[in-house]
Amino acid sequence: MPSHYLDHAATTPVRPEATAAWLAAPGGNASSVHATGRRARRVLEEAREEVADRLSVTASDVVFTSGGTMADNLAVRGIHAARTVADPTRDTIVVSAVEHHAVLDAAAAVPGARVHTLPVDEQGRVNTEHLADVLAAEAGRVSLVSVMSANNEVGTAQPIAEISAVCRSVGVPLHIDAVQSVGWWGAPPAEGVAFSVSGHKFGAPAGIGALVLPAGVPCQPLIVGGGQERKVHSGTLNVAGAAAMAAALAAALDSNLASGEPGTPLPQLRAELEAGVVAAAPEARIVGGGDRLPGVVSAVFDGCEADALLMLLDAAGIECSTGSACTAGIPEPSHVLAAMGADPATARSALRFSLGWTSTRADVEALVDALPEAVARARRASARQSGRRTSRRLSGTAV
Ligand code: PLP
Repeated sequence: MPSHYLDHAATTPVRPEATAAWLAAPGGNASSVHATGRRARRVLEEAREEVADRLSVTASDVVFTSGGTMADNLAVRGIHAARTVADPTRDTIVVSAVEHHAVLDAAAAVPGARVHTLPVDEQGRVNTEHLADVLAAEAGRVSLVSVMSANNEVGTAQPIAEISAVCRSVGVPLHIDAVQSVGWWGAPPAEGVAFSVSGHKFGAPAGIGALVLPAGVPCQPLIVGGGQERKVHSGTLNVAGAAAMAAALAAALDSNLASGEPGTPLPQLRAELEAGVVAAAPEARIVGGGDRLPGVVSAVFDGCEADALLMLLDAAGIECSTGSACTAGIPEPSHVLAAMGADPATARSALRFSLGWTSTRADVEALVDALPEAVARARRASARQSGRRTSRRLSGTAV
């Protein structure tokens, strides 16, 4: 049975352009002064130029990292550290409630930092006026604000241009986790801000990413060593990865899959996917709204545990993901859906289907075919389980 990959937001297949660039990259250490090193350096710098050009930033602002998690950690912890060294009263990091754990956990891990979490509305959007109020109330205490361009679970885009204007008006640096959006939309619509990029989300192999760090944004290194990447991120450079990421980014943005024009492949497929899910499982509800990533569909299936549904779909050859994390075998509700106001049972019933550059109508049709039986079986399993839980509770009170 062929499998149908509907999990491009987790990682998307490597593009042929990236494979070719990877294979063509020379060996050698880009910091070596001999000819082999210089050849590697040239390829690395060409990759940096290409990434910068595609993102309309200055090449020297591109700091290569091992991926999105590294870029997020460097931004959140590094900018906070630099700002508190300059002014110890700046002890507060502001994040949105729907950030990826690479941001949330990085902020939580900073010793002595206060973390202010911005609520979101039922679509997952930050309220810009509320952000302005928070920055006014916390005047002088905020080291940085970190808000993602678009959410990985539900696809909702944030009002980045307005958020950036609010931060700029009070002189607080903004970091944007742009990991999910860069391959679709290029750079976030904000000048002079730091943003994170991850190659494997748009067709490079995993293990390469970047933090775009404008020269005016202070940032301390998290790891020290050979002083590579403007001394802000030491370590021998991944030349082949950088070349592959540049090629993947160019191919992704040139493909214009996400243009949103009527009849263009991806928005059309997503509309078919959403309509198909609701037709196949009438109780399903699509979550999120407004401006969204073009490939992401998040749906809740009342009465189902998403983990069970995911396994049943997997057995039918459909690969997707849940929003929940599993802690010690117990599915935890997604923090994103919880922040959007979903109750725990609903938040545990969410599946994410995500389309990408290899998606076809056959993938969508296979999902729509498999869904009714999978939902019926997941619902029966969930009802049996809650029956067992009730009788265990009852017997617990009886004896
Ligand atoms: N930020 C967001 C929004 C993501 O979706 C992900 C990956 O899922 C990351 C950060 C982490 O990126 P990476 O997998 O490159 O470490």
